Amino acid sequence: MKRELNFEGRVNILYLVATPIGNLEDMSPRALKVLNEVEYIAAEDTRTSGLLLSHFGINKPLISCHEHNEEEASKKITELLSTGHSVAYMSDAGYPGISDPGERLVKAALDQDIKVSVISGPSALLHALVASGLKSDHFYFHGFLESRDAARKNELQELVNRPETLIFYEAPHRIDKTLKGMFEVFGDRRACIGRELTKIHEEYIRGNLGELSQIDPATLRGEMVIVVEGCNTEITPVVSDEQIVKFVSSLTDVGISTKDAVRQASLVLKVNKNYIYKLYHTN
Ligand code: SAM
Repeated sequence: MKRELNFEGRVNILYLVATPIGNLEDMSPRALKVLNEVEYIAAEDTRTSGLLLSHFGINKPLISCHEHNEEEASKKITELLSTGHSVAYMSDAGYPGISDPGERLVKAALDQDIKVSVISGPSALLHALVASGLKSDHFYFHGFLESRDAARKNELQELVNRPETLIFYEAPHRIDKTLKGMFEVFGDRRACIGRELTKIHEEYIRGNLGELSQIDPATLRGEMVIVVEGCNTEITPVVSDEQIVKFVSSLTDVGISTKDAVRQASLVLKVNKNYIYKLYHTN
């Protein structure tokens, strides 16, 4: 066990600085103070961070530390920190270590008894969650899903029974497939897309997954967070045979196989799979 106290001064502390996710006015005075006071700034992308820093008139030696060189760069950064130099680390946007590099750097610092101090700032996942209108007392952050169709579907299936609100990051070129996949696996749950958060074109699209999966993907540009209602285990709905058949048909009508539609209906409606299968085929 180790208890860390005293974050005074700038020596032997690795600063992790959260940066704006789209609006430069979200850069905190504390972040600027730390960045102005450290000797070196390590960054995921020195070009992107260089632009941000020059906007605030900060000019420091930059060290590149990204996904593909994090181990090597961590050695260099911890070496500097343990020889009396001060360093702050920032990723391209938001918090380092959240779907961004930073985790290995933190571990390397802690392994060498270097303190870690986080300078708070914007977070895309929290921003989208609190605005979603969905339950925010318990939530599960998944980040990016696998890009291959089969792997993504498996990943979603593993989450189907989680009761917490689910949060995903997604890129615009995959959003359509992801929303359709979510509808197929999770059923018609409530969801919210948070798009271009903190920027001029900030938008929230709230609805059910069935509706969201029908949105013209050309209108879903930019950066997006998808927030999905968790599995509702408290309520066991009492559904009629007619409602069951209607539910299965609504899925098969959009091209989902009968097998997947029956499995989904069973999960969502909490009705035995074989019962639904027979019912569907006798109607
Ligand atoms: N480190 C960042 C954080 O703390 O949120 C996340 C970086 S990750 C590489 C980038 C993804 O975060 C985007 O693809 C998108 O899903 C989400 N994201 C970042 N900024 C966003 C914004 N302004 N609006 C919506 N989503 C955003």
